[in-house]
Amino acid sequence: MSDHVLYETPAPHVARLVLNRPSSRNAQDTHFLYALNEAFDRAAQDDEIKVIILAAAGPHFSSGHDLRESDGVAALKSHRTVGTWCGFGCAGSEAQMAREKEIYIGFSERWRNVPKPTIAEVQGKVIAGGLMLIWPCDIIVAAEDAAFMDNTVGMGVNGVEFFAHPWEMSARKAKEMLFTSDWIDAQQALKIGMVNHVVPNAELSSFTLALAERIAKKPRFALKLAKESVNAAQDAQGRVGAMNAAFALHQLGHSHNMIVYGTLVDPTGFPAAVKRG
Ligand code: ZN
Repeated sequence: MSDHVLYETPAPHVARLVLNRPSSRNAQDTHFLYALNEAFDRAAQDDEIKVIILAAAGPHFSSGHDLRESDGVAALKSHRTVGTWCGFGCAGSEAQMAREKEIYIGFSERWRNVPKPTIAEVQGKVIAGGLMLIWPCDIIVAAEDAAFMDNTVGMGVNGVEFFAHPWEMSARKAKEMLFTSDWIDAQQALKIGMVNHVVPNAELSSFTLALAERIAKKPRFALKLAKESVNAAQDAQGRVGAMNAAFALHQLGHSHNMIVYGTLVDPTGFPAAVKRG
């Protein structure tokens, strides 16, 4: 397993996955995402594990996608893909959509459906793609310094690929988050229901582990059934169809930027990011 993601078992029946690229603020490149997916699979497939914690090393949970990755297609080819969508080496939008369907919306949806309770343990900044790691989790525990932002409208797309904003907060708050790229701090996130708890940074790991241990005392199958039942309620409200529509519009944004600017993201809205959104 890659050292980009550590796999710990801090208590009986609890797995703790740790994002481990603190020098880059846990920026996500292709290898990093496959390492995380492998760790989720390992925890999901181990019947002794009942609860999964997703944590991060360093001061910040995740700065989002790694904009420095030069050849994402080549990186993708060195992994066994998890989806059925192909065409990663094709030209234009065909390849771009394939890549984002596999490693962005594909992975996040896959982790959302892991049939065990998952808890995100979050400190520091969570930017854009970082949201696609915590939103698939069932419970989010935030440290006091946690702050959340989706700045991708400035890059010329509608929002991150796993477009869960309207399911994580009210439609009005989701629109404000997208239109302004403003930070949502931990207390605001608690108020709008995006996180379950806010705790002092020094207590983040112990609080999260204690919560995981309490959950792990419950019967495994009942936990699975409870999670599936809540997820089914969201899906009955049209979550999957709405998110797929947003994903298609995200691809339209990339294609538009490529036609007008020759880059996937709009350089006028976010000059530092010219390769990937
Ligand atoms: Zn994208």
